[in-house]
Order: sequence, then C-alpha cells, then structure tokens
Amino acid sequence: MLIYISGQFFDNDNAKISVFDHGFLYGDGIFEGMRAYNGKVFRHRQHLDRLWDSAKSLFLEIPMTKDAMEQAVNGTLQINNLKDAYIRLIVTRGSGTLGLDAHLCSEPKVIIIAAELALYPKEFYERGLEIVTASTVRTNPGMLSPQVKSLNYLNNIMAKIEGHQAGCIEVLMLNAKGEVAECSGDNIFIYKKDILHTPPAEAGILEGITRRAVLEIAECAGIKVRVAPMTRHDIYTADECFLTGSAAELIPAVKLDGRIIGSGVPGNVTKNLLKKFQEETQK
Ligand code: PMP
Repeated sequence: MLIYISGQFFDNDNAKISVFDHGFLYGDGIFEGMRAYNGKVFRHRQHLDRLWDSAKSLFLEIPMTKDAMEQAVNGTLQINNLKDAYIRLIVTRGSGTLGLDAHLCSEPKVIIIAAELALYPKEFYERGLEIVTASTVRTNPGMLSPQVKSLNYLNNIMAKIEGHQAGCIEVLMLNAKGEVAECSGDNIFIYKKDILHTPPAEAGILEGITRRAVLEIAECAGIKVRVAPMTRHDIYTADECFLTGSAAELIPAVKLDGRIIGSGVPGNVTKNLLKKFQEETQK
C-alpha cells in the first residue's frame, strides 16, 4: 500500500509522522472518511467542504486547494490500483513543541490512506444490529462542535467501548439534554407512521454525508421527512430504525436497550432506501 504524505508517496513501513506533531500529541487535527465506488469518490466535494469547515473552526490552514486535494485523493486511489475503497484523509497541525501553542507548529501535514473495504459483516445487514445506549454523553456543541471531525475521537471511542462491553458493535449516544444525538460513528434514522425522522444538527451530531444523501433520496421517493429532536422512546416505539455512514452505508438496527424495534427484522423502507442509496453510489 502506498500512503500519501504532503505530496509524496511512502510504503507502509516508511509512512511516518513526527512524535512532535500536535495531531499525535493533542489530537490537534481533522479527518474525513470517504468511499470510492468504481474509481469515483462518493460526494467528494461535500467531504472536502466538510474538511475545510472543520479546518476553519480550528484555525487550521490546509496547505493546498480543494482541487489539488481532490487530485491527491484520486492519485492515491490510482497508484494503489483501487476502485472500491475506503479513504482516510487526515490533516494534522504539524510538528511543534511539547507545549500547546499551535503557532509554534510547522506546516500542517496532509495524509491520505486508501484501503480495501472493511464493511460490517453481511449478517448484520440481513439480521439488523442490536445496539445499546452509552452512558458517555456526546460532546456538547458549546465545548467543541461535533460538526468538527477532529482527530480527538475519545468521546466516541469511550461510547464504542461501552457498546463492545455490552456485546454490540455500534452504540447510541445522547446529548446533555438526554435527546438522541447519533451513534459512535454513524447517524441514526427511524421510520414511524409513514415519516422518516432523524435528529437535527442542533442535537449535537456530525452531519453525515450519507445522512444528507438519504434525506435527499427519501424526499425524491415521496417519503415524508422530519428533522427534529428525538428521544429514545421514539426509537423504542419506531416501526424501523437504521444507521448511516460512509463505511456502513445504511445498516438496520432492530433492538435498542433490549427493546425490539418494529417487527425485529430489517424493514422494507430501510431495505428500499439502501437499494436506492447503492444505486446513487454507482452514478
Ligand atoms: N457521526 C459520526 C460521529 C461519524 O464519525 C460519522 C462518520 N464515520 C458519521 C456520523 C457518518 O458520517 P458520514 O455519512 O459522512 O460518513
């Protein structure tokens, strides 16, 4: 595998960054997780726009244009002969001192890793996921906005560990008000009484690119959509539930905190939206 680091390609053993990089020392950096289908990155520009927004929020100057970044991502796919891949794009603050001062850091480093896909196992798409609610509360937007896809993912990792301890591969996170926010690495949707419902940005979520695509697809299909606060009760009593993310696409969830959701098997609306989403990725 060849990894792009700030304009050059390195093999796995030689793809290295400094231990003084503030991305390593403090989680001071940002990232994107993207999918390529048949050689084309899905919603490439939307991912880059989100990356640039994250950078702006953190006073991080990405040392290249969006066009150059797009070319670098495509180049990384090509040099690795990958058509269907998961792509991790990282921008770190760069090497600095052991102190917090970001101004003492050198140029930000840009890293692009394109890898074979590691999807959730197929059986989870067929049977649906069981999830639990984490006691770890999703980061309050007043502290650091969950819209910033920063290298500090400990909030999500703590929740994911709780899920793992409960035997679940994904886990629900609430915000400080006790409303549903999202899962550790996926957004959440429910379908109830003919309405597709997902929490709004203000609930303290990362606004997923997949989430946006699903909302568009649903609207085009004539499904009524509601983006509004949601509680766990809404999920317990939903007809269907599914999670969305670049890696997962749409994955059904059939149990939350021991309550069976709907009929306990992936529902038709979920299956239909997944089919339509997959068609969209091939365009
Ligand atoms: N929420 C969180 C916390 C995430 O990390 C991700 C991405 N893994 C998502 C939602 C889904 O976002 P996207 O659809 O853009 O991959």
